[in-house]
Amino acid sequence: MKRRDFTRTLLGGAVAAALPELPLPGQNQAPVRVNGPRLNARIQELGKYGANPQGGVSRVGYSEFDRQARPVVMGWMREAGLEPSIDFGANIIARRPGRDAALPPLLFGSHTDSVPEGGNYDGPVGSLGAIEVAQTLAEQRITLRHPIEVVVWSNEEGGLYGSRAVSGQLTPPELKNVSRSGKTIEDGIAFLGGDPTKLDQVRRRKGSIAGYLELHIEQGGILEQTKTEIGIVEGIVGIQQWEVTVTGFANHAGTTPMDQRRDAMLSAARFTEMVNRVVRATPGRQVGTVGRMQAFPGAPNVIPGQVICSLELRDLDDAKIGVLSARIREEARQIGEADGTTFAYKELHINASSPSDPRVRALIGDAAKSLGLSTRVMPSGAGHDAQAMAQLGPMGMIFIPSIGGISHSPKEYSTPGDIVNGANVLLAAVLAMDAV
Ligand SMILES: [Zn+2]
Repeated sequence: MKRRDFTRTLLGGAVAAALPELPLPGQNQAPVRVNGPRLNARIQELGKYGANPQGGVSRVGYSEFDRQARPVVMGWMREAGLEPSIDFGANIIARRPGRDAALPPLLFGSHTDSVPEGGNYDGPVGSLGAIEVAQTLAEQRITLRHPIEVVVWSNEEGGLYGSRAVSGQLTPPELKNVSRSGKTIEDGIAFLGGDPTKLDQVRRRKGSIAGYLELHIEQGGILEQTKTEIGIVEGIVGIQQWEVTVTGFANHAGTTPMDQRRDAMLSAARFTEMVNRVVRATPGRQVGTVGRMQAFPGAPNVIPGQVICSLELRDLDDAKIGVLSARIREEARQIGEADGTTFAYKELHINASSPSDPRVRALIGDAAKSLGLSTRVMPSGAGHDAQAMAQLGPMGMIFIPSIGGISHSPKEYSTPGDIVNGANVLLAAVLAMDAV
């Protein structure tokens, strides 16, 4: 992206008035960079809201701490020359007009809610990074062609509720779900200043955004292990979960000979081992997990007659998940035949994979290269608001390293230097996306 491609125009209003006059861009002027110390100071300041004794934050969506943190974030948005407002889905959307009012907006942001006993980086890095980008543009007197909207999505950790309201994927029955704050989704949305009865009005059409960018911590250890500074997200993996019921026959553990048992627990153990083997037998980055298991009747002196367990498969390619799932069911049928047990499946959760846009990936790669940063294209194994935005327009995500690969924990940490790198890549990618 060449600097002469941007036109700088003076911003109207208070921000422009408060800023010193800057020289017009010239060939020798240094490239635009975010204010790293300000960004890192704000991340630490936000961490005070819901700070937990373990050193992280517990700022669950719709909780009192979640509500208290939001005016602080909106204040920083105003300092960045944005006009924040709360939409009916309780998302904070902060807008600044572009040079061409006919163009759709360019969105970037993340979330500020956390899991219970979470960390201070999952969400805040991308949210405050986005505000920092907007503030840097304002201070440099750069007005983009597109309007910009810096977004802080509500209740991401509970299930992408704010972003799915905007993408139209949030269904009315889900509003009755009870969130981790103890409030239902509809009460939580109202608690944060939204209106759950008017969610149809926040819904946006496909093609109504110029694009969506999100900076986020990796939440895994690949970038750190490979000493890579920036991850370019290929897409967010599809997730398919089933409840698996293994049925045998409950009988006396003392009087039933070993060759006359129909032991559901034994079949479930073989199933667990088989899932691991089948998932590993194919090349690729797919993952498969049996994460929960309960035996019935569940007594030391009774052969289990029934076991209920879970099966979860994740991959960027939904078709591959389908192939693995079929193979697992076939092998499970064989286990059942040998053990005198049966396997039945109930779908718990099917979430299609969300690929990022190839052109946006290329722009992020170029942006990182222009900053001298190393990159790696990688899937996101965790869900993000970006997957809802991928329904509406071209989406891209930028990852920075998570130290020790730890997240959703008070020990979650990303270095100030990596955070600044990520924000500078976001800034360069926003400028590049605006130019195309
Ligand atoms: Zn997150």
